[in-house]
Amino acid sequence: MSTIERVELDAVIFGGGAAGLWSLDALHRAGYRVLLLEAGDLGSGQTIASQGIIHGGLKYTLTGLLTPSARAIRDMPGRWRRCLAGEDEPRLSRTRLRGHYCHLWRSQSFRSRLAMLGARAGLQVAPVPLDPDERPAVLRRCPGTVARLDEQVIEPASFIEDLANPHRERILQIDCANGLEFLTTGPGEVELVRLINPDSGSAVDLAPRRVILLAGGGNASLREQLGLSAERAQSRPLHMILARGTLPTLNAHCVDGTSTRLTITTTRDARSRDVWQIGGRIAERGVKLDPDRLVHEAVREIRATLPEVDLTGTQWTTYRVDRAESAAQGVRPDSIGVVEEGNVLTGWPTKLALVPMLADEVLRVTRAGLSADHEQDAASIDSALRDWPRPRVALPPWETISTWITVDSAEPV
Ligand SMILES: Cc1cc2nc3c(=O)[nH]c(=O)nc-3n(C[C@H](O)[C@H](O)[C@H](O)COP(=O)(O)OP(=O)(O)OC[C@H]3O[C@@H](n4cnc5c(N)ncnc54)[C@H](O)[C@@H]3O)c2cc1C
Repeated sequence: MSTIERVELDAVIFGGGAAGLWSLDALHRAGYRVLLLEAGDLGSGQTIASQGIIHGGLKYTLTGLLTPSARAIRDMPGRWRRCLAGEDEPRLSRTRLRGHYCHLWRSQSFRSRLAMLGARAGLQVAPVPLDPDERPAVLRRCPGTVARLDEQVIEPASFIEDLANPHRERILQIDCANGLEFLTTGPGEVELVRLINPDSGSAVDLAPRRVILLAGGGNASLREQLGLSAERAQSRPLHMILARGTLPTLNAHCVDGTSTRLTITTTRDARSRDVWQIGGRIAERGVKLDPDRLVHEAVREIRATLPEVDLTGTQWTTYRVDRAESAAQGVRPDSIGVVEEGNVLTGWPTKLALVPMLADEVLRVTRAGLSADHEQDAASIDSALRDWPRPRVALPPWETISTWITVDSAEPV
């Protein structure tokens, strides 16, 4: 009878999106024996679908007040900037930037003017109004204020790759349906995580002192498997819009009243076409619309707010994605969410920008219960898991969607 190999660990992380990978890096650098388990592709779910804006809180000050959300997030752009420049850990100098900053333009309403002023209060990253000749061409003739906001915009796929690369040996592909079992002694008290190698069928037992759930939309069902309530999690849907073709580069928010009417970010697809990702209020309201109706609405909105952009020949589609967060009665939580129960920690960053803050908290809680013993790390992990399959990085939505609608002329679609 063959014995099942047992791997003693300080921590096992579930989920290889931004939160899991950043936390893996933090725990590993602090000297803990840690593995990350990924059920699909790295970043699939929210990170690969996100717009990549490293928010500094502007969106949350449009009421004119320094809200708790804005207070939580305002230090994040500086921290990311240092990592992206390779000056701080994790060093992310291979992460591609969609833009060094964002722009803001506003609709004509009086409330939008007030909101732009209010937004300047109390933020590290406050909007800087621009003269017409300093604006991007596409916003040059906008009648209202146009401002620059020092929020960098990252390309999520390259960020996931950059963050995962130094840790490939510590990241394992798992099959949640057929290759994962827990041995628990009570709710949130995990003794063993048994994994079946998806390629060879052989089993390995992980004996972690801490289990860390950072699996986004997967947290709820993992919690149920561990005897914990799924009601600590909430999900808020979005229906995002994509346009591709020849489009101007724009990373910008259109402020309307106290909300962002549209948020546009720009990237390139594998065939070098410009791709616009369009979110903001339209993607929240669009949840109730079917894709054709939402595309129609988006084209109308772009024509209304950016009349100079020629959409002829551009192609449009939509994708649905849920934001996975800690429960907050269906509204966006003010900051990160962390719950500690038994030896299980569950976390939700709420925003990509807040991921470093979540990783700090994961490290703090882990440190409170464990000591560092880096020396055993490589030896124990390497021998048992050397040939285990490793997950790849997820493809972004514009590389996987096959149905696009062409806008042929200036006429309404
Ligand atoms: C459309 C959209 C746009 C956004 N834009 C921005 C933005 O511009 N700026 C910003 O700050 N925030 C933005 N956000 C929010 C941000 O993307 C998320 O807060 C962040 O990416 C969440 O990261 P995560 O690692 O917690 O989750 P995810 O990125 O969802 O990663 C979860 C990972 O866990 C894996 N997994 C799932 N179940 C299991 C399981 N049972 N076992 C193992 N692994 C599992 C998944 O495959 C995935 O790899 C946006 C969100 C959306 C949806």
